[in-house]
Formats: sequence, C-alpha cells, structure tokens
Amino acid sequence: MIKKILVLGSGSAGLIAAISLKRKIPQLSVHVVRSPDLGVIGVGEGTTPNFPKHLFDYLGISRKRFYELAEPTWKLGIKFLWGPRGRFDYTFNQQLDTHWNDLPKPTGFYCDDDFSCASLPAALMANGKAFPRQANGCPDIQPWHAFHIENKKFVDVLEIVAREVGVEFTDGKVSGAERGPNGISAVMLDDGRRIEADFFIDSSGFRSELLGKALEEPFIGFDRSLFCDRAVVGGWERTDEPILPYTTAETMDSGWAWQIEHEHHVNRGYVYSSQGISDDAAAEEFLRKNPKAPKSPRVVKFRSGCYRRQWVENVVGVGNASGFVEPLEATSLMIVCSNMQTLVDFLIHSKLEPPPTMRTLYNDLTAATWNDIRDFLALHYKVNTALETPFWRHCNADTDVSAIAPLLEFYKENGPTGFCRYRLPRTENDFGLEGYLVMLVGNRVPYNVRHTPTSAEQAIWNRHRSEFVAEARKGLDVKESLAYVRHPGWQWNAEAAPAAR
Ligand SMILES: Cc1cc2nc3c(=O)[nH]c(=O)nc-3n(C[C@H](O)[C@H](O)[C@H](O)COP(=O)(O)OP(=O)(O)OC[C@H]3O[C@@H](n4cnc5c(N)ncnc54)[C@H](O)[C@@H]3O)c2cc1C
Repeated sequence: MIKKILVLGSGSAGLIAAISLKRKIPQLSVHVVRSPDLGVIGVGEGTTPNFPKHLFDYLGISRKRFYELAEPTWKLGIKFLWGPRGRFDYTFNQQLDTHWNDLPKPTGFYCDDDFSCASLPAALMANGKAFPRQANGCPDIQPWHAFHIENKKFVDVLEIVAREVGVEFTDGKVSGAERGPNGISAVMLDDGRRIEADFFIDSSGFRSELLGKALEEPFIGFDRSLFCDRAVVGGWERTDEPILPYTTAETMDSGWAWQIEHEHHVNRGYVYSSQGISDDAAAEEFLRKNPKAPKSPRVVKFRSGCYRRQWVENVVGVGNASGFVEPLEATSLMIVCSNMQTLVDFLIHSKLEPPPTMRTLYNDLTAATWNDIRDFLALHYKVNTALETPFWRHCNADTDVSAIAPLLEFYKENGPTGFCRYRLPRTENDFGLEGYLVMLVGNRVPYNVRHTPTSAEQAIWNRHRSEFVAEARKGLDVKESLAYVRHPGWQWNAEAAPAAR
C-alpha cells in the first residue's frame, strides 16, 4: 500500500501534484524534494479555464486569498493574429459549435466574411473588456475565464498552501535513484542523504530525473507535426498599455509570438524552429517588432513530445518531466490539473494499491490527451497562410495532421456543422469541436457547401452580434474589475473554505 509519496521538484507541476494528493488523500505522507540551486523554469504564465476550477473548486483554495497573493489577471481566450483574415478570437465559450434557434444553419456558416463578436466573450475581447457589468455595477465574473499568472508568484503561493495542508519539504539535489522490486525505492541526494518512498511523482522539469533518466522511458517526439524547438523570452514593465483580457498569438516569420498580460508586466516570447532561423536572427526579429523588450532576450530550448508512458512502475511524471508542447494553447498546466484529478481518483478507488490495469488505463488516457494536443496544435500550423515565408510554406505543406484527416475531410465536404464532432479522434477531447471549428473557420479553410444567408437571416445574425457588442461595451476592463475584487467589501460567490488555515 502507498503510504509515502515523494514529489521530486517544486515548480508549479510538483506543487500542484503535492497539494492535490495531500488535500484529497490526507492520510498520505507527501514529501517534496527540490533543488533551490536548479530553481524553477520561470516561464508558463497562461492557463485554461480548468485551472481556476482545479484551484478553487477541486482544491478549495480561497479565491480571496489567491487573488491577494498571486495577483492573477483574467484571460477570456486567445486573439490569433493568424490566417488570411489577419485575426480572429478563440474564446472559452461556444462561438461556433452552436446553432441559434432563429437561424437555419449553425453559427459557423455565417462567419465566412466576418468572424467577430459571435458570442459575448468574443465581443468583450474585441472591446478590451474582461466581464459584463451586473445591474449593481459589479463585474459579473463568469466561469469562462482562465488566468494570466506570473510563474514565480504562482509557485510562491503554491508553496504556502502546500505547507499549510501538511506537505513536507527537503532542499537538496537528487543525484541518483535506487531501484527496488516495484520500481524506485529511494532517491540519493548529492550530499549523501537517501530518501525512501513507496511512490514517486517526477516533476523535475525537462531534466525528467526519474521517468526519463532513472527508468529510461522512451520519449516520443512530435517533430513531424510540430517543428518549433526554441523560444526567445523577454517582457517589459507596463507603462500606458491597457491590460488586455486575452493572450495574443501573433504570426512571426519563423514561428509565432505570445503576449501575456500581467498587471504590471507584459510577457512576450517568440517560439521558432532552430532549423528555420538562428537564435540571433530570431532575437533580432523579436526586438524589431517589440522595441520595449530587453536587448538580450533569454533563449529557452525545448523538444515537443511526451514520454511513451506517464506512469511507469511506481513513478508518475507530471509537468515538463512528462512531456512538453509549445504554449500555443497554454496546455501544460491544463494537463497537470486534469492528470492529477485522474491519478487521485485512481489511487482512492484502488485504496492506494493500484493494480497494473489501473496504471495501463492511466497511460492510455494520458497518451490520448497528448495526442489530441499535438493534433490540435498541428492544425494551427497547417492552415495558417498569413505569411509566405519558407517556414510557413514548410508548415502548410509538411505538417503531419494525418490523425485528424477524417475530420478535415468531413469538414471540407460539409462545412462547420456540429456533425463534425463524430469525426473527432475522441469525443472527450479537451478542446471540443469548438476549438477545431474556430481554427478551421478562423483560417478560412475552404468547404464545399457554402450557405448564402438571406437578407432576413443576415439581419438576425447582425442583431445578435450587436446585442453582444452593446453588452460588452457596458462591461468592465481588467483594471476596473481588479479594483472591484480588491475592495474589502467584495464577496466571492460560493467561496470555499481556505485551505487549512
Ligand atoms: C517558453 C515556454 C513557455 C511556456 N508557457 C506556458 C504557458 O503559457 N502555460 C502553461 O501552462 N505552461 C507553459 N509552459 C510550461 C511551464 O513551464 C510549465 O507548465 C510549468 O512551469 C511547470 O513546470 P515544471 O514544474 O514541470 O518544471 P520546473 O518549473 O522546471 O520545475 C522543476 C523542479 O524540479 C527541481 N529539480 C529538477 N532536477 C532536480 C534534481 N536533480 N534534484 C532536485 N530537484 C530537482 C527544480 O529545482 C524545480 O523545483 C511554458 C514553457 C516554456 C518553455
């Protein structure tokens, strides 16, 4: 039976894992070992909506306290500066996988010419607003938001919560692992200490000390679908720029650049392929387009892919130690949260004695998630025809999207209909049909059965959109909404008990 779990690493992945395990299975002893000398990666600042749900609803962390300490801002989606339209908004609610009662066709058929403000969050994004305004003037904070959150602040808050719930910490650098009959039996620190446990979470970041190094699990590269392998990272202190309620993903000559909005800091980075451009040339393009960025931006190298199995013997990989894809949809923390919920459920169900079939199921589910993410990101590259550079020509021609070929073929013949969902690789896909339709319609991927709206339909379509715009214009921007939630009288609905305070 598992009694003691050792979590290797205290980046955001290790700490979310440690808190989730201790909070949901309090009888476990959970021990984090981490090296302050190696530190944390320090990048990773955009999330998806399952992240606030995991923190507040699943772990019961107090919203009030979290907002005070971590100082997140809100993200309603991603503004893609992408494709032949030049731009479109991907929100966290349904814009295209919908069918309004008063129109004969699903929404996507009305977006050929103008795909903007097709939902309230999209209208909020277009108008720089975070939330609609309630009758009493307060922001109506909807569940269709995610966060922008600074990695360092986030890690600091998680460590406070972890200590409060009873997670123990040891500082030291792991230099090796001892094998036992059921996998790893102990880790060795470079000062000679030896720490035993029954079960291990490898959250050692790209070093993957246990899953990759000690257990030598093979790494499955995604390089036929995702060609980028580096990023230059550099932000600046905010001056007069408005705090945008979304992440921006901008097409660059040899990749794309993110812009993530913190209250006092703008975080910018350029993801590129080292085959297509040198680090110096990437930094030059980045600085030319972002004159406020630091003169020597940091270069981060990565490889896209994941370990073949995420759970091997008594080791589960979490975070960058288990796999990585570029932050085009900010999916890393999304996977950490959802995988931890699955692992906790499996451990509870098996009364802390998980049989091999449970492990195999975990590996099948997590491999499917990684494949979904690979295919969804690959589609972003395949259909982006905004620039005619060698890199983008290579992406348009050579990106492997064979795993979603049935969906693409169906879309080509039938257009943005809800029936496409039956051609997704998996129905429980994290992005849902909505994500795929936004990419296909947003990038004007051609389909055969165009619908020409009648003037009456066009009037209905325009009326709905102008209603969204009118409501959005009355809304509050990020700064105004932050002022509300920081007011001493502000009450969060359904505020959960603070974590063991
Ligand atoms: C360019 C870039 C942009 C990104 N953007 C996003 C984003 O927008 N959204 C998102 O969700 N994710 C993003 N990510 C991913 C993000 O980095 C991770 O989701 C997140 O930070 C979790 O990291 P981690 O905890 O796995 O690793 P790390 O932060 O690297 O932590 C590793 C931990 O292991 C410890 N450690 C390692 N080796 C040893 C050892 N031998 N002994 C003891 N301790 C050890 C370290 O000290 C550290 O505590 C991005 C990543 C990159 C590279």
